[in-house]
Amino acid sequence: MRFIYHHPVPDFYQTENPNCPKNFISDDFLKEFSDIAIASQFAGLSYSRLSDEFRTEWNIDWDNIIILKYFMSDDILKMEPSKEKCRLEDAEFQEFGQKTFALADILRQNGFRADLINPLDDRVSLRAIAMQSNDAVITRSNMCMFREGLNLGLFMIQTSIENLPFKMKNDMLWVRDYCSTCGVCIDRCPENAFDGDGKFIRKACTAHRHGCSQCILFCPFYKRGYDKVKKRYDRMVKK
Ligand code: SF4
Ligand code: SF4
Repeated sequence: MRFIYHHPVPDFYQTENPNCPKNFISDDFLKEFSDIAIASQFAGLSYSRLSDEFRTEWNIDWDNIIILKYFMSDDILKMEPSKEKCRLEDAEFQEFGQKTFALADILRQNGFRADLINPLDDRVSLRAIAMQSNDAVITRSNMCMFREGLNLGLFMIQTSIENLPFKMKNDMLWVRDYCSTCGVCIDRCPENAFDGDGKFIRKACTAHRHGCSQCILFCPFYKRGYDKVKKRYDRMVKK
């Protein structure tokens, strides 16, 4: 599911992919690359190694993915759903898309294959790729949440680099249990986009059409942050 008010990000590549791309990145250069991404206002990076089953299921031949996460602006999120809000969200999306092309260029200039995955391509789900990182979880309100926060936009680069620091185990799955005890998003949803069992009803949600973000704004993960909610959860399960 994607924000239908987003427009395609024009191609900003300045550099061609290398003919014989390198497969291994040094720790120093990966750190330098991450530092450049953070200096470009990205919130953080994650990495997905796509399994053979995943690639077969989605009919793709990429395997190594760099996920670049950016915070959707608080000021925009707090606006009422409107055309102007959608326009501003798209402007933010375009800005970070442009920055992602620049980061892909840095990888190309250093000998790696690097291609932006088109976030508007409906043939593959960025959320499904994100879950392959073992660094994210889908909340009850159907948001793809990483530790950095709930209000994240994503861009992804598929690359020849084989030795990215892939996580082998997802330690965020407790969030599903926490969500089952919470339900604030259900109570706050103006569109009743949850069924009687608290399951998200995609077609009733207006986030992707009109920019609703009520469930983000009232979610404990947005209001308190991941670590504080985790501490609260740990206290809850100890009782
Ligand atoms: S409001 Fe509560 S139930 Fe909904 S996503 Fe956030 S933590 Fe989960
Ligand atoms: S309609 Fe709004 S509050 Fe309801 S689930 Fe969608 S984004 Fe969240």
